[in-house]
Amino acid sequence: MIIKKILLITLFIFSYLNADTNLTAKEEAFLRNTNINAISTATWAPLNMYNDKKQLSGICIDFWELLKKKANIKSQTIIAKDWNTVLSNIENKSADITFGTSFDSKKLSYANFTTSYISFPIAFATLHDERFIPNSSYLEGKTVAVGENYSSHIIMKKNFPKINFVPVKNTEEALKLLSAEKVDAVIDILPVIAHLISHKGYYNLKISGTSKHEVNMTLMIRKDYKELKSILDKYIIKITAMEKEAIIKEWLTVKFDKRIIDYKYIFQALILIFIIVLFYTFKKMDLKKYNEKIEKLSKIDSLTNLNNRQAIDSKLTKLKGKRFSLVLIDIDHFKEINDIYGHKSGDEILIEFANILKTNLKKNQDIGRWGGEEFLLIYEGQTESQAAIIANDLKYIIENHDFKIRKVTASFGISEANKDSDIKNVLANADNALYKAKERGRNQVIISSNLIS
Ligand code: GH3
Ligand code: MG
Ligand code: MG
Repeated sequence: MIIKKILLITLFIFSYLNADTNLTAKEEAFLRNTNINAISTATWAPLNMYNDKKQLSGICIDFWELLKKKANIKSQTIIAKDWNTVLSNIENKSADITFGTSFDSKKLSYANFTTSYISFPIAFATLHDERFIPNSSYLEGKTVAVGENYSSHIIMKKNFPKINFVPVKNTEEALKLLSAEKVDAVIDILPVIAHLISHKGYYNLKISGTSKHEVNMTLMIRKDYKELKSILDKYIIKITAMEKEAIIKEWLTVKFDKRIIDYKYIFQALILIFIIVLFYTFKKMDLKKYNEKIEKLSKIDSLTNLNNRQAIDSKLTKLKGKRFSLVLIDIDHFKEINDIYGHKSGDEILIEFANILKTNLKKNQDIGRWGGEEFLLIYEGQTESQAAIIANDLKYIIENHDFKIRKVTASFGISEANKDSDIKNVLANADNALYKAKERGRNQVIISSNLIS
């Protein structure tokens, strides 16, 4: 009896001590005796990349560091120039593990995959003036640049063989092609596309949708390191939701204050982050509803709630062949407002200014934020002189409005389009008229056709 009790207590203590790890003796020995050679690219921001100090960092790197600490793994990481180098190194066993990939049965001859530690949807990037892409089949027949053999490439190739893939070295190369209008779209997982568009200055690009296919991120391990796989699996399921969230949050927060900024770009970056946050918030929602939300969001300027430039652009395109007038509105000396009262006050004025425009909108008019402190009013079916009446009313309302911080005025440039007009010229005419209004002292309305050319 007593022996049985002692045995039970020993067993209890033993399992208590092991509760945290639950590793087999073989696994323990593996960890003790093996130094792991990890390998990663640094070309897949924000999953793996160089930070300011030229060190390898990123979402996947953080997960690896977390697992290393939890499992007490001895390891160092070498950086490969591209993904194919990573694969060949694992295949010839000069490297043991890599962090950011997804399951692929074709690699089972030389590698094993752990349980997934996080998943991301595949996103589509296009030029700014392209339409929203509700699902992947819309890309069939289109040219789509993608990092060669990237997880998104493999998954999409398998599910949508009719897409004309253009495999390139990495996603940045893919976005360069898209930005130069050499391909129709680029695919990669959402955080990667969002990060690159907002950090690398592809301001003519946007995220125009996400696929229902997700990339389940796993670690890929050389085939003969079976213990390493089983050890990591045991620790991956122990990663808490809080730990995951902490890593993701860290990487999806753009640190604007460190950069010299142009506000136009901040809003684009904010919209991207908003879309990502929305994705995770509405993950459980009906996909259709979520897509509708994104489409709506992608047309709204997040500061002023007016149509954004993209939305106004597509409205203009629809007006081709019709008569309409444009009123281009630019706040006077806005930089001074920022400089004297700070950007926050500048933002408040922008919001209030936008509200004035919105509340005074008449029938057949549409308004949007055209740029930083520039707004574009479209007046359908109306001539320049009718638009000038509206513009003079707005000028009066604005100069007499109590903005609290200080008096605000704006300048107005007006142009007219008829059925033969090229929209680019109509915009240029409004711009020239606005320029003249500034030149002549601001707080005034100038009609393009009144300018002697
Ligand atoms: P002008 O009368 O000739 O139009 O002078 P301006 O100072 O208004 O024109 P300029 O184009 O030199 O400056 C516009 C400024 O607007 C520069 C930019 O920092 C600021 N700006 C653009 N977008 C935003 C924004 O969203 N918020 C704030 N606070 N400032 C912005
Ligand atoms: Mg301006
Ligand atoms: Mg201005």
